[in-house]
Amino acid sequence: MLVMKFGGTSVGSAKAISEVAAIVKARLKQKPVVVVSAVSGVTDGLIRLAEEASNGKGADLFSSIHGQHKDILLDLKLSESLCDKEFAELTALVKKTRKKKSKLTQKTLDTFKSFGERLSSLIVAETLKKAGVPAKAFPAWELGMITNDVFGDSDPLPESSALLKKKICALTLVPVITGFLGKTKKGEITTLGRGGSDYTAAIIGAAIKAEAIQIWKEVDGFLTTDPRIVPEAKIVSELAFEEACELAYFGAKVLHPKTILPAMELGVPVQVLNTFKPEGKGTTIVSSFEDRRHKSHSVEAFSRKKGITILHVRSPEFFDGSGLMAKLFKVFERHRTSIDLIATSVVSVSLTIDNEKYLKEIVHDLKNLGDVSVVRGKAIICMVGGSINAAGVAGRIFTTLGKHEIPVEMISQAASGVSMTFVVDECDTERALRILHAEFIEK
Ligand code: ADP
Ligand code: ASP
Ligand code: MG
Repeated sequence: MLVMKFGGTSVGSAKAISEVAAIVKARLKQKPVVVVSAVSGVTDGLIRLAEEASNGKGADLFSSIHGQHKDILLDLKLSESLCDKEFAELTALVKKTRKKKSKLTQKTLDTFKSFGERLSSLIVAETLKKAGVPAKAFPAWELGMITNDVFGDSDPLPESSALLKKKICALTLVPVITGFLGKTKKGEITTLGRGGSDYTAAIIGAAIKAEAIQIWKEVDGFLTTDPRIVPEAKIVSELAFEEACELAYFGAKVLHPKTILPAMELGVPVQVLNTFKPEGKGTTIVSSFEDRRHKSHSVEAFSRKKGITILHVRSPEFFDGSGLMAKLFKVFERHRTSIDLIATSVVSVSLTIDNEKYLKEIVHDLKNLGDVSVVRGKAIICMVGGSINAAGVAGRIFTTLGKHEIPVEMISQAASGVSMTFVVDECDTERALRILHAEFIEK
């Protein structure tokens, strides 16, 4: 079986949805399992609608979301009533939220967000049927996607995997499954985090042990860097799971960072392909970095993550290794904040975080361990490649940035040799990406 996930732009218009139907139809022999995102812009629209409704407003926004789907239905010559049930439900939710006028909860927000994928899956399934493909739309929970109750950023429960396998493998038609969504054991709607349809595809792909997981988008594949900043970015034909994981985590929006793990655990290859150029080879993400090492460039691709804060903790006690490091990590664990990079010296530790929700509490607790200073407005740049740790590569990276007067701090090289990661000032990020691209990819 083949899992095929289509992103927001790939289901963003009648024309795009017709392309999707043709792509799926051409692969019927491989038993496709289709996963879809919401029509592009709709999830953002639904979040705004929820906020407006909780302030007693939202009528115009509702009409605009309704109109956007109606236009697609009309263009595809599908029945205008196809989505009536969902829109009636959304209308009722807007009314209820308006009346309540209490603070919007993550739980209610997840129910609002769910309509995007519920609507797009209906339209894609109907288009497939019209093209002669037996297909049916399913909310993911009907096929076994049961999650924890971390609304807005949930994960599937372990029992989901067997359920998904049992229910999906029993189907005799092409399922068109909502990405991004699940339900708790109690039956409450949850979402897997923004961009989470990729994650849905990977969870399903791992559960049914698919032959491959294909992520169909509006770009040719995984590119050397963000094409919105460097238009010269080129397609990378092959990446190792570990490399893609680092890039996705450090901001390559092309894949949701959690996508790689379920696929990697079972060795299911992930392909990134272009819906609008289906004949292209795209990018294949393969299981072993070691196998790739000899045939890869020194620098294959790089990404950036902005909004980084550095915390410097200075204490002479780090010097005698008296367990201060363990105490330091406990502070972050206690305040549920993950650390991205760490650099140590004999008397100090510097760490980066990308989430300031508990910053005040963290700083308060760290002050028990030493002097603390906080520096905001930083960005992480992550570079991967088969020989990123070869002699001279690091020198070339930092000389290139130095020549352009871009200061670098907190340089970190993964022990696995997969990546080189460092911090720059946020305002230098775009310039650094362009300079590094010119030096390592375009030369
Ligand atoms: P989808 O709705 O298909 O999931 P997204 O909008 O989430 O699409 O992500 C696709 C966008 O990610 C592309 O349009 C591209 O601009 C951006 N992007 C950032 N970094 C990369 C990269 N390294 N390779 C490809 N695209 C990237
Ligand atoms: N529609 C959701 C979002 O915009 C999930 C996704 O597109 O992957 O975040
Ligand atoms: Mg996405």
